Amino acid sequence: MALHPRPTIKPWLPKLWRDPDTIQIGIDPGGGAVVSGVDAATAHWLVGLDGSRSEAETLVAAAAAGLDVANAVGILSGLHRSGVLLSAPIDVDDVGDTGPLLPELVNLTTALTSPLHGGQAMTARGRQHIVIDGANRIGVPLGALLAASGVGRLSFLDAQPVRRCDAGVGGLSLDDEGEPRVTAAQRAIRRISALEQVLTHTAADEADLLVLCQPWTAHDPLQGRGMSERTAHLAVAVRQGTVVIGPLVLPGRTSCLHCAELHRTDRDPRWPALAAQLVAAPNRAMHEPTSVLASLAAALAAAQILDHLDGIRVPEVVQATLELRPPDWQLHRRSWPPHADCGCVEAVPDPIRAAG
Ligand SMILES: [Zn+2]
Repeated sequence: MALHPRPTIKPWLPKLWRDPDTIQIGIDPGGGAVVSGVDAATAHWLVGLDGSRSEAETLVAAAAAGLDVANAVGILSGLHRSGVLLSAPIDVDDVGDTGPLLPELVNLTTALTSPLHGGQAMTARGRQHIVIDGANRIGVPLGALLAASGVGRLSFLDAQPVRRCDAGVGGLSLDDEGEPRVTAAQRAIRRISALEQVLTHTAADEADLLVLCQPWTAHDPLQGRGMSERTAHLAVAVRQGTVVIGPLVLPGRTSCLHCAELHRTDRDPRWPALAAQLVAAPNRAMHEPTSVLASLAAALAAAQILDHLDGIRVPEVVQATLELRPPDWQLHRRSWPPHADCGCVEAVPDPIRAAG
């Protein structure tokens, strides 16, 4: 079987002449190729690598154009090694429309080097059910990002009505004031995704992932709220001007939110007393993120969630948090390994890097 059943140069890569007989495909490091000794016939043949022909037909076309077939085989091999070839053209039917899902399919196909696998990954996203706890300035834009990325089912948990200060970019609007946040959130999601199924029930236990976007400062947000700790969950917050994403808890497999509390207590034995005061008298004024911080939190969380759903790479927020704050805007990763006193998981090493 041919390596590339219908060899296709990635259509989004520019083809540029470096000099009269050299073509460069792509401009970014790690995703381009330079083909030298290119005459007019070879250039025409390269343009024909668009998925319209099988690999065998491609070589027949090379011979018909007067090219050396062995050289054509060498060019195909080189393009393959350089990562500029798809095995077949991308089929837009894999996503059902050509709206915001098409760039997602292209991106997945690039990561997986196969339109077949890219289409399967998009289908898998469509089956996912994500529950977002908190239809607020972070949760609703996050839901919109996930919907626009192909996540098929979303639910929101929130009993509060919309306030004017809840309006946000990509989320609730000023016109939503006074409506239930959940109702307004569903409308915001449908603005970006015609395929989206926004569920109205609040069965967090049935979710593939629970995203905790309610403001919380000093305690495990799952405690006392009847939410299952068996569901995978991700904490997302902006605390004191710092975006904090993670940890992503895969119950029984990775460290949990209680582990993080125990580590914090190890560093500061007075932390439980301080946390109790924060829980008893939360400072609501500190909970409203700026528009930029809310957007950064939603986007960073969405990227980590998609990594988790796609399974292409281990999300950076497994047993860790990603933290982002002004003025340097440098992304910091803080490791939260399993705590020996928690017992939520057998002690396992950080799957990404050693704790520290
Ligand atoms: Zn734990």
